[in-house]
Amino acid sequence: MTYFLGIDLGGTNIKTGVVDDNGAVVSKHSQPTEGKYGADRVLKNMVDAAQTVVDAAELTLKDMAYIGIGSPGPVDTENGIVISSPNISGWSNYPMRNLIADALGRPTVLANDANAAAFGEYWVGAGASPDIQNLIMLTLGTGVGGGVIVNGQIISGTCGYAAEVGHMIVQPDGRECGCGQKGCLETYASASRTAVRACEMLAKGKASSLQAIYKSDPQQITAKAIFDAAAEGDELANEVIDQTAYYLALACISLTRILDPQMFVFAGGMALAGDALLSRIRQHFDAQNWHAAPNAVTLEIAQLGNDAGLIGAAAIAWDANRND
Ligand SMILES: [Zn+2]
Repeated sequence: MTYFLGIDLGGTNIKTGVVDDNGAVVSKHSQPTEGKYGADRVLKNMVDAAQTVVDAAELTLKDMAYIGIGSPGPVDTENGIVISSPNISGWSNYPMRNLIADALGRPTVLANDANAAAFGEYWVGAGASPDIQNLIMLTLGTGVGGGVIVNGQIISGTCGYAAEVGHMIVQPDGRECGCGQKGCLETYASASRTAVRACEMLAKGKASSLQAIYKSDPQQITAKAIFDAAAEGDELANEVIDQTAYYLALACISLTRILDPQMFVFAGGMALAGDALLSRIRQHFDAQNWHAAPNAVTLEIAQLGNDAGLIGAAAIAWDANRND
């Protein structure tokens, strides 16, 4: 058996896992990132977390064929450098790969965390079939994250900014996005923004079973509450979800024109809605999609759940090992 160590570096927690070459998690561990204390502290925490999870698997670092790190924000994968990181102070052009490789004594690879998670789905998740070599993942959470796999490889772009699918413009002159653009996909179709759109309609006094919840605590209007109401036949909830699905479908069509993928994989909290979301995206996709040639792209829900980040990090380690 070959083992890989995955390190999923989040803004809040560092999640580590020892993963075997079938993608099974042998052991896992989570501890606070402590990003506010600066880069050196985070690096130390990553090293400690790695040792802890290897001990928990009753293995040693020498048993790890490769170490993979998934880091938020843009990274230079070739040189193993974190270009910048949204939640960790002092990380600018930080040579993380070599620092971890030196500290742990094993060959190490680095990727953007969303790209790594997509690669995990490609390896042992929704896209695990060997026939699937072209896959795009959209993660629907606070924002909309993404990863693009073409010919079995992560596309990271010139400066590590590729696959930012959440910042595709889907509405000309639309809602303002934190990135400086207007009308980005994530300003309409993330889980949080879906809830915001529902609250805007509820604030206008439109009839809905969600009104009582909204009046007592608007924070309780979550994507899940909206899907639950829609399942009970609530019209407003159905309208909100339909619009979310519409924008996601537009984004998927544009991505399909450029990349001709075999599969879209939807991850994140809102993807837990399953077919209630997928069937609507499919409907809009088929209605708007071109007729120039048949298109067999499938829409799937991600399979790796809460372990997606660490399995993704292990997946890039597995990939580096197979290409060694
Ligand atoms: Zn944006």
